[in-house]
Amino acid sequence: MTNKVDVLVIGGGAIGLSAAHYLQRAGRAVTVLDQKAVAAGSSSGNAGHIVPSHIVPLAAPGIIGTALRWLRDPKNSPFGMRLSADPAYLSWLLQFAAACSERNVRSAIPALKALGLLSARNFTRLVRDEELNCAYNQTGLLFLYKTRAALDAGRHEAELLHQHGLPAEVLDEPLVHWREPAALPDVIGGVHFTGDASLDPARFLRALADRVIARGAEVRENTPVTVLESTGERLTRVRTSAGDFEAEQVVLAAGAWSPQVARGLGLNLPVQPARGYSLTARAGVALHPWLDREVDATAFLEEAQRFRIGFDDTGEATQLGHAHEVLDLLVVIEVDENLFA
Ligand SMILES: Cc1cc2nc3c(=O)[nH]c(=O)nc-3n(C[C@H](O)[C@H](O)[C@H](O)COP(=O)(O)OP(=O)(O)OC[C@H]3O[C@@H](n4cnc5c(N)ncnc54)[C@H](O)[C@@H]3O)c2cc1C
Repeated sequence: MTNKVDVLVIGGGAIGLSAAHYLQRAGRAVTVLDQKAVAAGSSSGNAGHIVPSHIVPLAAPGIIGTALRWLRDPKNSPFGMRLSADPAYLSWLLQFAAACSERNVRSAIPALKALGLLSARNFTRLVRDEELNCAYNQTGLLFLYKTRAALDAGRHEAELLHQHGLPAEVLDEPLVHWREPAALPDVIGGVHFTGDASLDPARFLRALADRVIARGAEVRENTPVTVLESTGERLTRVRTSAGDFEAEQVVLAAGAWSPQVARGLGLNLPVQPARGYSLTARAGVALHPWLDREVDATAFLEEAQRFRIGFDDTGEATQLGHAHEVLDLLVVIEVDENLFA
């Protein structure tokens, strides 16, 4: 059976659901498909930071040296990677390395600034207009520094933001301890990125999904897209485990899976998944207890209520990207392997 729909959105994460919301506002009828469930991807496990202050792209001079330093100290590093012979991975690495130039940073900053400010404004409107109950907080983000070199780098970043008309307040030692009494005694300064915001991403997504469904969208979970078929330039058919779809327009919002989904169209999307952690404190736990103690990678994972590291529901490593390497990285950060027995 072929389902004929107006707009078909593939992926029920932040991008897919936001696209569905704005398409509905433009008068379109929307169907959302997700291989698992709404908010099953990184959109509900992230840190929930809305950061117009992030105007410097990750691909910047110095990042490769930093990454190599991190690789030498995997236990204490926020980043881990192992080289692989996968051509798509090597191609991505080469493109990333080529992008790490001053010229690229200079040309990316205006675009990232415009995107960040638009995104922050839209979050404010969306949360307000749709009354999304998601712990939305516009008090900014406070970065704390313990070494002179790190503080200097933070100050440098604040100056860069000022040059581009964005707010950032550098706090000296007395001021940072006055502003944040729970900061550890050896914190020597901070930068308050006052234009940033935060929210609870899982609650945000659930609330947004509810609104989108209430406005008539059909959301089909456990419906993986298996193949995209095209004739010439036109995408003609979307094959899924629950039958075929024909749509006026298709939005591909499958996050890190998008290259796999798009493969049927002969597209080679340069997207690679990255490992990360997020920590969700128990309800009722105040922020301060988290601040006034050292959190290293091991303690971080021990204390995490849940974290997402690229495993599927069965506990098997997914075949996504280089997820098999995550196992090695977990050993490196001394996670109890019995967790995955
Ligand atoms: C630890 C961590 C912290 C982060 N912190 C932040 C932050 O503070 N601020 C920020 O802005 N960003 C942050 N990010 C990045 C952010 O989470 C992602 O950029 C964002 O969630 C991507 O959203 P998405 O909708 O594109 O992808 P996803 O949320 O991954 O959604 C993709 C969806 O597509 C579905 N899907 C996949 N394949 C198929 C298929 N074949 N058929 C149907 N459905 C399919 C998946 O099930 C999934 O639900 C963080 C990321 C991580 C990992």
